[in-house]
Amino acid sequence: MQITLLGTGNPIPDPRRGGPATLVRAAGATVLIDCGRGVLQRMMGAGAMPGMLSALLITHLHSDHLTDLNDVITMHWVMSPVQQTLRIYGPPRTAEIVTATLAALAPDIQYRLDHHNDLTSGPQIEVVEVVPGDEFTIGAVSVKVGATDHRPVEPTVAFRLDDGTHSVVLGGDGIPCDGLHELCLGADAYVQTVIRDDLVKLVPSQRFQDILDYHSTVEQAAQTATRAGVTTLVLTHYVPAIASGAEDEWRALAAAHFSGNIVLGDDLTSVEL
Ligand SMILES: [Zn+2]
Ligand SMILES: [Zn+2]
Repeated sequence: MQITLLGTGNPIPDPRRGGPATLVRAAGATVLIDCGRGVLQRMMGAGAMPGMLSALLITHLHSDHLTDLNDVITMHWVMSPVQQTLRIYGPPRTAEIVTATLAALAPDIQYRLDHHNDLTSGPQIEVVEVVPGDEFTIGAVSVKVGATDHRPVEPTVAFRLDDGTHSVVLGGDGIPCDGLHELCLGADAYVQTVIRDDLVKLVPSQRFQDILDYHSTVEQAAQTATRAGVTTLVLTHYVPAIASGAEDEWRALAAAHFSGNIVLGDDLTSVEL
């Protein structure tokens, strides 16, 4: 199982970091979790073509996790040599977003259908709305859905992918909670979006201060990893962006609460389990 951080940024545009998105390749499946800004550029950087996607999983409907949904839908459609269905799993209201995105793409879809004789229908999308406790499979990978706490943003979910040998939890955004803990129990890897509350508190902006109550800090992510007995903690969605040369400082904050393997870094940082 290979986990690649495609985009390690946050909602604020960053010249060096894409928006939230992670790729998991396991047992022949290529699974994209969230599709933030620049996701397809990073997927190509990771050697994964849009048409290779086995499924897209969405943790929640905050825009930074969805900005490039239109691009994923369009490129999966036009870059697939044969027509194939894109399966999208996400919390309730995901179907609403997909329907609205397809409506926004209607002119483009018509242009391409008119121009390319071998395209006989528009994007084939199958949306499955999921809630905590649900289970499904993507090829040989089994997926469990867990609850997260990113309130007032609701609904939100986390996913645990298991290929029979290894397992990884994609925690999405949120603070530690029982649902996330249960999903993480005994997992090999746990990917968590994190903030540095010590740095965020220095920013003289109420809108920035507002994010403190619904994101895990680096320390909280490390504590969740320790409590759940995971082997590898993967940090992403850095708020603020990790300053160049400051990786070790972030790593030390996590290491104070977690003695396992800690992975963080730039876009395309990858870990093999
Ligand atoms: Zn969010
Ligand atoms: Zn986010």
